[in-house]
Amino acid sequence: MTKTSKKALDIIIVGAGLGGLTAAAYLKKAGHRVTVLERSASSLGQSEPTADFGLSIVANAVHLLFALGVSEPNLNGVEFTQMWDLTPDNQLTASVPFNTRKMFGAPTLLIRRSRLEKELLRIVDSDEGSTEDRTGGQGTVDLVWNAKVESVDVDDGTVVLRDGTSRSADLIIGADGVNSVVRKAILGEGAQPQLHGLLAYVAHVSTAHLASLPQTRFAVEDAGKRGLAFWMSNPSAPYRVVLYPYSPEAFNIICILPDERWASTFAASKRASLSDVPAKILKEELEKQGFAEEIVQLATEHGSSICAWRLRTLRQMPCQEWHKGKAVLLGDAVHALTPHLGQGVNIAIEDAEALHYFMSRSDGSTKSLKLAMEQYAALRAPRVHRIQWRNLQAAGLLSEDEKAKHGPIDRQEFGKETYAYQGAEKELLKRNKEEISV
Ligand SMILES: Cc1cc2nc3c(=O)[nH]c(=O)nc-3n(C[C@H](O)[C@H](O)[C@H](O)COP(=O)(O)OP(=O)(O)OC[C@H]3O[C@@H](n4cnc5c(N)ncnc54)[C@H](O)[C@@H]3O)c2cc1C
Repeated sequence: MTKTSKKALDIIIVGAGLGGLTAAAYLKKAGHRVTVLERSASSLGQSEPTADFGLSIVANAVHLLFALGVSEPNLNGVEFTQMWDLTPDNQLTASVPFNTRKMFGAPTLLIRRSRLEKELLRIVDSDEGSTEDRTGGQGTVDLVWNAKVESVDVDDGTVVLRDGTSRSADLIIGADGVNSVVRKAILGEGAQPQLHGLLAYVAHVSTAHLASLPQTRFAVEDAGKRGLAFWMSNPSAPYRVVLYPYSPEAFNIICILPDERWASTFAASKRASLSDVPAKILKEELEKQGFAEEIVQLATEHGSSICAWRLRTLRQMPCQEWHKGKAVLLGDAVHALTPHLGQGVNIAIEDAEALHYFMSRSDGSTKSLKLAMEQYAALRAPRVHRIQWRNLQAAGLLSEDEKAKHGPIDRQEFGKETYAYQGAEKELLKRNKEEISV
């Protein structure tokens, strides 16, 4: 196939989360005409400040983001270089270096979500490296806010918006998160999010405040050692307190705890998040799980407001369920996870790159686009399923039989199998080699 036989496509991406924006940046670069439809009124940092918490962007996604043009200084993050394990009564049991730069050739960055969003928006708006292999002229991205998609026709490639208007495209990408409307169009009610009775309480604390507390000085005293500190109530239970920086000046404290007391609030509001949670409630929940006074104080006495996110997951969806007709899924829409291993955004970014890779090998005809979707899903599903399973293992959410059989997660092993990823092409070569050697 010659380059000139390739057609620029009209593509709709539903959802301007980090997965959708990464896909938009990649597909624009490939010369396609992309429309991103986002239900929020403006970018996340402005419209949903409670969702603007810190994220770990690990080497497996950092490689891909750097190749796309993301600038490390613009993220104003902190490099993750150390990990600490502590007991609920605040005894330090392990301090382990974490150096993906050395082991996997790319750093792991702890960043604020809105910083990466802003950086992806900059790339989407700029002409950096666009039109790598299409004949249809410059790739474009039209980002439309306040554009909630209500329904999708996967055969026609049409979406209907809340205002009653409709739009059509050659391909519709569902990057619309755990309650995906595109997934519903593909599967009906076939994959509903699952609840695990877990809530992540999130608070923001300044580095200066942490330096003043004896119990957290270890996490800030050496500027060369920054990373995640875990206080686990019990390694085989999902409950934990996690402290990590997302900029030189600020940290998040995330407490993963039972959500029971909020059941009726969630049922009434139909929302998955809470804002301005009283510190008193978080204090009671931490005490119930046996966390020591210093940890309770750390999580509740900082003057910042506390919000909370109900955690949901999706089952392992077979690759045939990732696409249908003119629609395909990526990110949380097809594999939402709890944050126990910090991979949700990372694998959404991997999906976006892989989708771009297979689409750039297609000539744009219906037949070759269908093949590209099949190849994309076939490559992604086994890796994503392994990460979903490991995540349940790390969160203590496997069945009792599975727990007895597999034990707790080996984090080094998980790192080796996950962080070395360098994109779809290399993954495909690796898979082919494995198949040949069997
Ligand atoms: C407390 C917490 C901590 C986390 N920490 C990490 C971490 O450290 N590292 C990590 O990798 N992951 C982490 N995650 C997981 C991560 O946030 C998600 O996996 C990731 O945001 C998924 O990205 P996405 O683009 O697929 O979906 P989303 O971020 O959910 O984006 C979906 C977008 O689609 C829009 N949308 C939805 N429906 C429609 C519609 N009908 N029409 C138009 N627009 C629509 C939404 O408004 C949203 O903008 C964490 C999650 C939580 C809750």
